[in-house]
Order: sequence, then structure tokens, then C-alpha cells
Amino acid sequence: MAWPITDEQRMIQLMVREFTRKEIEPVAAENDRQGRFPAGILEKMAELGLMGMMVPAQYGGAEVGAVSYSLALQEIASACASTAVIMSVTNLSCEPLLQYGSEEQKSHWLPPLASGEGLGAFALTEPEAGSDPGSLRTLAVKAGDSYRINGSKVFITNGAHAITFVLVARTSQEGGKKALSAFLMPRTTPGLEIGPEEEKMGLHASSTVPLTLEECSVSLEQRLGQEGDGFKIAMTALDGGRIGIASQATGIGQACLDESVRYSKERKQFGRFLASNQAIAWMIADMATELEAARLLTLQAAYQKELKQSFTREASIAKLYASEMANRAAYSALQIHGGYGYTRHYKVERLYRDARVTTLYEGTSEVQRIVVSREELRG
Ligand SMILES: Cc1cc2nc3c(=O)[nH]c(=O)nc-3n(C[C@H](O)[C@H](O)[C@H](O)COP(=O)(O)OP(=O)(O)OC[C@H]3O[C@@H](n4cnc5c(N)ncnc54)[C@H](O)[C@@H]3O)c2cc1C
Repeated sequence: MAWPITDEQRMIQLMVREFTRKEIEPVAAENDRQGRFPAGILEKMAELGLMGMMVPAQYGGAEVGAVSYSLALQEIASACASTAVIMSVTNLSCEPLLQYGSEEQKSHWLPPLASGEGLGAFALTEPEAGSDPGSLRTLAVKAGDSYRINGSKVFITNGAHAITFVLVARTSQEGGKKALSAFLMPRTTPGLEIGPEEEKMGLHASSTVPLTLEECSVSLEQRLGQEGDGFKIAMTALDGGRIGIASQATGIGQACLDESVRYSKERKQFGRFLASNQAIAWMIADMATELEAARLLTLQAAYQKELKQSFTREASIAKLYASEMANRAAYSALQIHGGYGYTRHYKVERLYRDARVTTLYEGTSEVQRIVVSREELRG
């Protein structure tokens, strides 16, 4: 790949590649099979500075920027998409704090998140509000110097392990998305109940839970930004998050290509290797071409974020393309593996299941198309 990454970015990429090969790849399949949260791996990743890669050094982060973050996440995801999403969501939950947090909020929460002492989570989705967060119903009512929050959230990644949640709630029944506000809610908040793990199709080593909020009291100081900033804060977090999911999908795509190349050069039918059939070789060519495009789009969005330019459009394009690419690559990889790819003996079975969610979370492909077309048709 000829995209001009710096020596430092290349060093980080190689360091994470080596770590992934030694520490994650050997246990990823078993963690998936057992539904085992990779706590030990996360501790080691934290020591390498991978949990707060975009957090400034003054708050204990690695402060290496969005391009390095994307490169690292691609490497992790090529071995274990579950570990990648845990890392991505923790980084995502630091973003609103960095952009909208008070100095006190930043100094309190960023060091434990960036050092990996605890994980972060982002609680937006509700049973009746998925693609349309403007319709969410969780209600925060001001009472003196605190808010009382009641409602429910679903599909919260890292929920069973997070030390704090960036939670979006409605501070007025009127006003649609303009009446949303964001809060920092520690997991120890009385009235916050963490529900049971979802039984998911993939990402078995990650945690996804519902939350119930019953008379949760949070102080005014736990609000992020101003009342009414909630929608803007959520969208800012998701812009960054989409670079994370595009990186995760690119990593999955890379793994699909690697597995396909290896298998098609090992397996013989009709007296010759699968790879010597043009039908198979062309599938590999298409996978490589689309993977390269996804990687470039993802790095482009990350670079634009580093330049502190608006990257909403670029992040949505990257997320849309990379997630659809990962699903096509997983389909082809499984096809190349034949019946064996349909069994748990081969990594492509896990890749196929893990790829599926990338077109759904942090905005479905349809939602990305809404974002991109809105940007294109503006003015
Ligand atoms: C494993 C997992 C982890 C997740 N983690 C988190 C998390 O950490 N925090 C969090 O807040 N949420 C999380 N989510 C929720 C996720 O972001 C939502 O599932 C997603 O936004 C879609 O919402 P929905 O499932 O309610 O689908 P719906 O919004 O009901 O959509 C159903 C279908 O209709 C389509 N659709 C909806 N509206 C339109 C429209 N206007 N035009 C065209 N098509 C449309 C959608 O694209 C989709 O295909 C997670 C989900 C999963 C599966």
C-alpha cells in the first residue's frame, strides 16, 4: 500500500501486528467459542497504549492520532473483531469527553479510560429508537442540582464491563432531537441496572447488554456540554466511531483475503490447486481490489480527522464501503473454502459472522447513505 504513512505510524502498525500475531490470534477462536471476554488481552493492549490512542498525553493517552489508531485497529480486527470493537468503543467514549467535557470531567475520566484501568461505553440506542435517535424516550428531569433519569437502552457494547457510560437522554418532552442532552453516568449509579448479555450471531467475545435506568440521579456536573447538545455530541462521537468500524471491517476484509490465498494454494481438486482456477483467482483479485479501496477511504477519513477538518462525509463513506466490502469478502472467502468454510474448523466461519454486524451498528448502510447523500445534495 503506497498511502504515505509516517515512520511512526508504520512502527505502530508493525508493533500491533506482532502483538496480534503473538497474543490475540492464538486465542481468538476459543474466546469466540466460549463467549469469553478477552480481559487479559485488553490489559496488555492498555499497556501498549491502545485504549486511548487519540487522548492527549496530559490525560494519560498515547496521543498518536487517528491514522495510527485506524492502522492498529485494522491489525487487531484481522485476528479478533470482538477485541477490535471493545477497543473502538472505549476510544469512541473518550471523544465526547475530549470535545465537550469540562476540565474536571476530563481529568476525572480520561486517565482511567486511556490507561485501560476501565472501559467506556456509549448508550444511545433504545428499543424504539435505533436509526432515529431523535425519537429516544429516556427522560432526564432536572430536580434541584441533579437530574433524575428513567428509561432503557439496548445493545450497549462493553456494557457489562464499562466504568462509565456516555448516555444520551431527553431533557424535555418537546423539541425532538434538540431536546437531547448527554451525561456521564458511572456504572455505580444507583438505579442503573445492567441486563443480561445478548445472544449474538457473532462478536461472541464482546459484551452487548441492555440497560434499565430507574430514578438514576446524576448531578448537573455530570452533564456533558449544555442542555440540548446531546444530539450534536452523539453525532460527533459517531463520526469518530465510524472510522473505528471502517477500520474493523477493513481488518476483517484483510483476514478474509489472507485465509483465501492460503487455502486456495493448499487445497487441490481436479488435480490442481484451487488458486489455479480463474474463477477462484478472480474472486481473490476482487477481494484485494475492494480491500485496498476500503483501506484508502478509511485512512483518508482518519487523516481528515487529524487535520481537524470536518470528516462526517468521509467517515460515512468509509464505513459504508468498508462494511459492505467486508461482507462481500467474507462471502467469497467462505465460498473458496467450500463446505469446510461452513464449519468451525476454519477461521472464515467466524469472519463471516463477525463481518455481518459492521453494516448495522454505528449507523446502518442505509443511514450512511442518508448522511452521504445529504452532504452531496446540500446547497
Ligand atoms: C452488536 C451490536 C452492538 C451495538 N452497540 C451499540 C452501542 O454500543 N451503543 C448504542 O447506542 N447502540 C449500539 N448498537 C445499536 C445499533 O447502533 C443499532 O442496532 C442500529 O443503529 C440500527 O438500529 P435498529 O437496530 O433499531 O434498526 P432500525 O432503525 O429499526 O432499522 C431497521 C432497518 O430499517 C432501515 N431503516 C431505518 N430507517 C430508514 C430510513 N429512513 N431509510 C431507509 N432505511 C431505513 C435500517 O437501515 C435497517 O435496515 C449495537 C448494535 C449491535 C447489533
